[in-house]
Amino acid sequence: MNLHEFQSKKLFAEYGIPVPKGVIADSAAGAIAAARGLGGTVWVVKAQVHAGGRGKAGGVKLAKDLDAVGAAAAGMLGTRLVTHQTGPEGLPVERVYVEQGSAIAREYYLSVVLNRDAGRVAFVASAAGGMDIEEVAEREPHKILRVDVHPAAGLQDFQCRQLAFGLGLSGAQVAQFGQIARALYRLYLERDASLVEVNPLILTGGGDLLALDAKVNIEDNALYRQRDLAAMRDPSQEDPMERHAAEHELNYVSLDGNIACMVNGAGLAMATMDLIQLHGGAPANFLDVGGGATKERVSAAFKLILSNPKVSAILINIFGGIVRCDMIAEGIIAAVKEVGVTIPVVVRLEGTNAPRARELLEGSGLGVIPASDLTDAANKAVRMAGAHA
Ligand code: GDP
Ligand code: MN
Repeated sequence: MNLHEFQSKKLFAEYGIPVPKGVIADSAAGAIAAARGLGGTVWVVKAQVHAGGRGKAGGVKLAKDLDAVGAAAAGMLGTRLVTHQTGPEGLPVERVYVEQGSAIAREYYLSVVLNRDAGRVAFVASAAGGMDIEEVAEREPHKILRVDVHPAAGLQDFQCRQLAFGLGLSGAQVAQFGQIARALYRLYLERDASLVEVNPLILTGGGDLLALDAKVNIEDNALYRQRDLAAMRDPSQEDPMERHAAEHELNYVSLDGNIACMVNGAGLAMATMDLIQLHGGAPANFLDVGGGATKERVSAAFKLILSNPKVSAILINIFGGIVRCDMIAEGIIAAVKEVGVTIPVVVRLEGTNAPRARELLEGSGLGVIPASDLTDAANKAVRMAGAHA
């Protein structure tokens, strides 16, 4: 689960990580009042969306008077911000964060992530801050510093110094950097984060380090013990299809293609997607209805994949071991009765009660296209999707 910048910064402040003073607002008048309350002569108005790249997309505006604060807020609120991380539909801006403006001497990149290869928490830092770290990694990989933390020993002082010196910091800033890094490490562990990113971490005109941006992702499986963070969830920023799927306890991931898949078992679902791709098609989603699927859940799943306007064919691939094929068929038929279906449905059913399932589907009036095996199913789905697109 992603947090908004203002929520991440609140968390930073709790851990003693220096952040600019800011107030959240959901109207232009609120933004002006926020700026007035903060005081100072320069403010930054920042669109709160679950995506980076806001600066280049007009979602971060410097304002030198209160009118400019109001205008910047009015220009963002109620719109959808499109950045290189959002996709063309963008994300809705329902709130802006108004901060006291900071003078920037230098911009650095600093993040805490899980290094899965090493099985350790890693710090990634770069003196090329404020930019896309992926771009830096590609073009100038030598500018990226990395330190893996031993889980028993924890973050060591020498590692903090290694990073600080690598960034070109000296004197009091090295100690400041160490404090920030240790606090980030504590936050990462205690709050079950999967990513904490500060881009940019800046050196202010006064020579202090300050977290100018903040991005925190929390591991979904730990939300049960991070209640205060779970309460910060903002569904408006999430993929509506994935949200709907989560409500029905379906393992669903939206993809870009036009062939919807309904499969039982994550491995079979991935193999199905691979086969679609191999035969020249593109899957519209990953969907594992699971071994413990009920008729209701299958029905919800079928409606979910049908609701995607990009879909031009459906491939159902069920190997009934624990799950019964006839129950899957009943779920599909119930969904079709409710919402109707006008696109081709290719079905491959094997295993428990497969013949009964085929009978049910054939008798349902639904124009099902049977497939004999996985390759045949993928082939037919790709052909039908092409013909229907
Ligand atoms: P992002 O583009 O979504 O990552 O948003 P950021 O919060 O990182 O802001 C983008 C850029 O805006 C930063 O890299 C800074 O260059 C600039 N910026 C943000 N806040 C301030 C500020 O207080 N003062 C100044 N001068 N620039 C700022
Ligand atoms: Mn940023």
